[in-house]
Amino acid sequence: MNVSVVLFTSDLRLHDHPPLRAASAGAREVVPLFVRDRAVDAAGFAAPNRLAFLADCLRDLDAGLRERGGRLVVRSGDVVEEVCRVATEAGADEVHLAADVSRYAQQREKRLRHALRAEGVRLHVHDAVTAAVAPGAVTPAGSDHFAVFTPYFRRWTQERSRDVLGAPRAVRVPDGVGSEQLPVYRGVSEGLAAGGERAGRAGLAAWLRHGISAYAERHDDLAGDATSRLSPHLHFGTLSPVEVVQRARTAGGAGAEAFVRQLAWREFHRQVLAARPDAAVADYRPRHDRWRTELTAREDIDAWREGRTGYPVVDAAMRQLRHEGWMHNRGRLLTASFLTKSLYVDWRIGARHFLDLLVDGDVANNQLNWQWVAGTGTDTRPNRVLSPVAQARRFDPDGAYVRRWVPELAGIEGAAVHQPWKLRGPDRAAVGYPDPVVELSDGLARFRRARGLG
Ligand code: FAD
Repeated sequence: MNVSVVLFTSDLRLHDHPPLRAASAGAREVVPLFVRDRAVDAAGFAAPNRLAFLADCLRDLDAGLRERGGRLVVRSGDVVEEVCRVATEAGADEVHLAADVSRYAQQREKRLRHALRAEGVRLHVHDAVTAAVAPGAVTPAGSDHFAVFTPYFRRWTQERSRDVLGAPRAVRVPDGVGSEQLPVYRGVSEGLAAGGERAGRAGLAAWLRHGISAYAERHDDLAGDATSRLSPHLHFGTLSPVEVVQRARTAGGAGAEAFVRQLAWREFHRQVLAARPDAAVADYRPRHDRWRTELTAREDIDAWREGRTGYPVVDAAMRQLRHEGWMHNRGRLLTASFLTKSLYVDWRIGARHFLDLLVDGDVANNQLNWQWVAGTGTDTRPNRVLSPVAQARRFDPDGAYVRRWVPELAGIEGAAVHQPWKLRGPDRAAVGYPDPVVELSDGLARFRRARGLG
């Protein structure tokens, strides 16, 4: 065996990378390849914030490979055609790839297998690269996936994952395989985090040292910003989920336990999407909703997207999303509930907006979390409605999060900031903040009628 191609997709790292390890062990030379896939652009998934993060990741991956004597080969076009072309140019007899869960990834793998077979090239697909427990590795009796988180989590924790692999010492790339320049992109959010494996590993190390121990008590504190912010690294695979889970377990304690549970949520959604790829667009559990849409709720949707619904905690979170390309999980929950329940707008409209801005925007996590909140997904209490006022009082008790993101309200002290409509006449006009787009009781009544709850 002489030359192998490793196709990098959502696994842009050198540490704990089974496809690279297998290729390096079996071949004299390896072509580390990334294809900027035309189909991802055509499907509208290439949002500027993620492209900017991706460009960082590719630069860093290339730098890491160069330190080891190699380089990253970058191409753009149809991914299957490009892999075949590179395999021919390099005289490769194998291609290595990490398994992934979306319908698109599943079809890519199938097309690739077919095309490579015709060329006499073998495709090796590796599990446990993009998830600590591969989708389908644990299943309940009589089904191909778990539809409820708690029993999934019980089984997930019992799985013994493989050992974490080190980064290769050297990578030899054959001469004569041409590469495009590394791409340069600009995001649309000013406060975007930096991408790349080095940034990811530094973030993980800092989190294990300083953040994780307080995670159980503080992860829902909106103003405290006490979560790991590792989600973009898990999405792009600049961190290995196997390694993150193992190092968190080694850290130990209640914080680590709560953190690992959240990582299992990520894998829960991935195994649902792997089994039901249609859940990216269709209701997982249809409730026969007749949602309001762009045609019937345009103004409400615009107010939500732009962070001027008149509910300060909703607006703060929506503005954080626009500014950072990231939003706190509690913010995601309450803004999604507000859109789908209080405004009764189709979850797909909210999910699309999130995907347009989130640097960690991920088909499995985003679509299935949206469905969870909308009550069309895996939540066992599909009709619960989060009140933005109650949520704000509980998770931003002093109002610091709202004041950080909604400058019009920065002069209002304490929890009063959550209900600016209670300010008296001139004070209220002075802050220049909009009235609520909906009375919460009206929104609740509309939702309950729509779901036939009386
Ligand atoms: P931490 O609290 O530090 O958690 C660690 C990791 O666990 C996260 O990085 C993430 O990989 C995983 N995780 C945490 N919470 C969840 C959860 N509820 N579901 C699944 N995985 C979780 N996460 C994404 O990665 N991409 C998305 O596109 C996405 N869209 C979402 C949309 C909605 C409506 C909601 C309610 C949640 C969404 N999430 C998404 C899940 C969660 O909000 C983010 O993973 C989390 O806020 C990222 O911040 P963190 O890394 O600091 O999380």
